[in-house]
Amino acid sequence: MILFQIPDWVRFFFKGFTWRKDPSQKVIYLTFDDGPVPEVTPLVLDILDKYEVKATFFMVGDNVRKHPDVYQEVIRRGHHVGSHSYNHLQGLHCGVRSYVANVKKTNEMLGTKLFRPPHGRMRSPQMSLLKREGYEVVLWDVLANDWSKWLKPGFILRNVKRHTRNGSIIVFHDSIKAQHNMLPVLPEAIKWWKEQGYQFGLL
Ligand SMILES: [Zn+2]
Repeated sequence: MILFQIPDWVRFFFKGFTWRKDPSQKVIYLTFDDGPVPEVTPLVLDILDKYEVKATFFMVGDNVRKHPDVYQEVIRRGHHVGSHSYNHLQGLHCGVRSYVANVKKTNEMLGTKLFRPPHGRMRSPQMSLLKREGYEVVLWDVLANDWSKWLKPGFILRNVKRHTRNGSIIVFHDSIKAQHNMLPVLPEAIKWWKEQGYQFGLL
């Protein structure tokens, strides 16, 4: 089943995550996971510049190490960054200490306390330890499912529009795997959000 929005009853059981920002403000938060990669991230930066939108990039530490120039360009153009672990670590299969060490290594490299767990999953002791150290653990309100090879851009765009609401944190991927959907959907979605009167916030 393809889910674009996690139901409230599920969120109730996972209160430690930031799912959505202030529902009283007409502001949305555009985010990108899994970069930076030289084939895709610069194209995203150009789209964002064209429409004068700022976003938050949840980066994989090892990609930052491999592509420091792309990382620097994201910063230079005024976007925010969070971490997405050092090597896209799946928290459910990882011990608490090694997971937290992997996350902290990446966050310290990027100078941020924002973290988004790969696959949106982690164990609660991992979360507790990170929160005790002042981390904000961010998931999303709208998942674009742009990485899916089964979904077409038109279907993704319709669903992203349908689920966007005040305070939505929206996730796309600046990755090779997602570019076939993300690159055509992103400009159309931005135009529509602007027509609807949404402002773009930074995490
Ligand atoms: Zn990811």
